[in-house]
This record gives sequence, structure tokens and C-alpha cells, in this order.
Amino acid sequence: MVQSSPKKNKIAIVGAGPSGIYCALTILNLFKKNNYTDFCIDVFDKDEPLKTILKTGNGRCNITNFTSDIKEFASNYPRGEKFLYSIFSRHFIFDTLDFFKSIGIDTYTEDDNRVFPVSQSAKDVRNKLLTAISDFKNIKFIKKKIHLASELSSYNKIVISCGSKDSENLIKSFGHEIVEFKKALCALNIENNYNLQGVSIKSEDGDFIFTRKGVSGPLIFKISSINAYKDFPYEVKIKLYDENKLFELVKKYPKKSIGNLISTMLPRSFVKQHVPDFDKNACEISKSHLVNYSFLKLKVISTYSEGEIVRAGGVKLSDLDKNCKSKLKDNLWFCGEIIDVDGFCGGFNLQNCWSSAYCVAFDVVSSIISNNNLE
Ligand SMILES: Cc1cc2nc3c(=O)[nH]c(=O)nc-3n(C[C@H](O)[C@H](O)[C@H](O)COP(=O)(O)OP(=O)(O)OC[C@H]3O[C@@H](n4cnc5c(N)ncnc54)[C@H](O)[C@@H]3O)c2cc1C
Repeated sequence: MVQSSPKKNKIAIVGAGPSGIYCALTILNLFKKNNYTDFCIDVFDKDEPLKTILKTGNGRCNITNFTSDIKEFASNYPRGEKFLYSIFSRHFIFDTLDFFKSIGIDTYTEDDNRVFPVSQSAKDVRNKLLTAISDFKNIKFIKKKIHLASELSSYNKIVISCGSKDSENLIKSFGHEIVEFKKALCALNIENNYNLQGVSIKSEDGDFIFTRKGVSGPLIFKISSINAYKDFPYEVKIKLYDENKLFELVKKYPKKSIGNLISTMLPRSFVKQHVPDFDKNACEISKSHLVNYSFLKLKVISTYSEGEIVRAGGVKLSDLDKNCKSKLKDNLWFCGEIIDVDGFCGGFNLQNCWSSAYCVAFDVVSSIISNNNLE
């Protein structure tokens, strides 16, 4: 059993990833505001704190997404959309950005709404979060893997923020059910071998790239996420371009080859494989074929790891209340990726971490000092 400090309120946080650290800092700030000191926080991690944030956004850390409407924001989560309404109504992107500003992280928003630190450095985000924590005395980091609930029996408040990797047994030891973990936001193996490695396509549905084994890129991550629970093989249909554009081109240049016309919108190497009638005059191709060429059908046979990988699945949401508190066990909370919430690329997964961690922290503190006194 882990020995903890002799304070009245002993709080254990398991996992020092983005959600665990944000939760710890929020608890510390709330207690500080309320001049409350009779507590200690022990943060357990089997690895270095915030190591997982270093890889985010290709080392740049896509902190959140500047979509200001909560419902629109939440529509970017294939799992957890409705659960997040209440979480986001209490802590949303503006609160997160204020928080980051308060610890010295200025941000900027890219054209596609993704928000990054001005430093463009996940390492900087990590350092600033850890520096903010180091200002407090009542918190201790313990490098240790927690295997079972029984190891934490000396704590009266427990927050589980251990992410979705290798956490099944720990969650089950608290009596909680897990919605089966599945890979989401990953590259896909496809049946047809196009031999187009490195060729990237800007389609109507989004951007993707052919890889050695299949396809990858933002659109493919989204497809993998939406279909995370589908059995393989499954078929996807990608809209390559607006067929009306092609109709116009055909009308204007009826004697040009259809392949050349489509190549004005897509890479020629791809069109050569995609359009069997490449050299035929455009005016000889039926309308239904023209429409057909505007779609790419892919038979997906498996996933393979690449890019921003998040796992779908986790602690069943129906076993949690609106503060991510366990309905099955007293004084137990979950936040971050371990809950059955996952979002698309673009900063949505980290925002789930920040917002769920905040709600957990607020509830933990409210359970110790009267909610009325909390600011
Ligand atoms: C390559 C990559 C890039 C990404 N980029 C982005 C991005 O730019 N924007 C975005 O929004 N999302 C991004 N994500 C997703 C995002 O990183 C995760 O959603 C987020 O890290 C989840 O945070 P978490 O704190 O819930 O869990 P984690 O980050 O997984 O942290 C969990 C922590 O718990 C520890 N731990 C686990 N089990 C135990 C145990 N039993 N005992 C003790 N410690 C334990 C782990 O060591 C870890 O430190 C990316 C993911 C990957 C893989």
C-alpha cells in the first residue's frame, strides 16, 4: 500500500498526462483562492509527468480548436458528444485559453481553427505547466504504476486520469465497466494497391495521402474514427471533386481527353489509375461515368498506426455523473482520454482533457469545502 502524507484530505491522481496535470493545477488553484490548506495531492505516474504531451501536434501541441459554439464543437466527437455539452458549459475553450495565458502560454489560431502555442512548442507547454505546479507545496509526484484500486485505499479522493493505454485492469478493479478500446485517428490499410506512395489528394471531403500500406492524412483519420467500431473489411466512398465542375470542363473542352480534364483537379498519377477511359474524348463519356469518377471507393481491411492516435472506448459514460464522478463508488472521478469520449483531429481530444479535468477538480474541491464558498 502507498503511504501518503498526514493531511485530512488526501487526494490521489493516477496519471500525470494533460488531464491529470490540469486537474491537479485546478484543485491547487481553487484551494489557494479559498485559503484552504488541509489537503495533499499525490500524483502517480509510471513515467515522467506530461511525457505524452510532447508528441502532440507533431511537437507543436494543438491545444484546442477555436469553434466557439458548444454544440458545434461537441459535434466533433464521434463518442461523447452529448455528455460533453454539460462539461463544456462549465469549462470551454475560452476558460482554457485564459488558464494557459495565466501560466504564460500565449496562443494563436490557424485558418482551420486549430489553436497552438505561439512558441509552437509542446515542450514549452509542458515546462510551463510543470513550473506552475512547482509553485505549490501540497503536491508530490510519485513515479509508480498503480495496478489496482486497493493500492490507493489510504486516499479519500481518487482521480483516475491514466489515459487509455494499458489501463483496463485498474479501471475494472474499481468495479467499472470499460467500453471496448478501439484505435481511432489512424491510417488505414486498403485492399486495392494503387502503388501511389506519397501522392496526396485534396478531395471535396478532405485531404489524404497514399502511403506504402494504404492511406493516411486528416480525412483518413476522421474516417477511421467514425468507423472505429465497424468490422473489417468495410467500404468508404470519398467525394473527390464536385462533378458540376467536371460537367463544365467537358462542355468547354469536349475534344480533350477525360483524363486530362480530371487531371486539372487531381494528381495525374492518381487519375491514370482511377479513370480507365483516361485517353477517351470527354464528350464520349456518359454522365453516369463522369459522376462515378468523382468518387473513390476504398475497401478498408485494417488500421495501422500513424499520426495522432487516440483510442475510442473507456469508462462507460452512463456510470459517471455530469462531473465525471463515479456513480458506482464514492469519492472516485475519471477524466481525460480514459472516459469513453474521443474526438477528431484538431485539438478536440486535448479540450476533452482540459474540460473534464476542470469539472472533476471543481467537484473534488466542492466535496471538501462547501460549494457555496467556491469561486
Ligand atoms: C502522436 C499524438 C499526437 C497527438 N496530438 C494531439 C494534438 O495535437 N491535439 C489534441 O487535442 N490531441 C492530440 N493527441 C491526443 C492527446 O495526446 C490525448 O488525448 C491526451 O494525451 C490524453 O491525455 P490524458 O491525460 O487523458 O492521458 P495520457 O496523455 O495518456 O496520460 C496518461 C498518463 O498516465 C500514466 N499512466 C497510465 N497508466 C498508469 C498507471 N496504471 N499508473 C500510473 N500511471 C499511469 C501514463 O504514463 C501517462 O503519463 C495526440 C496523440 C498522439 C498519440
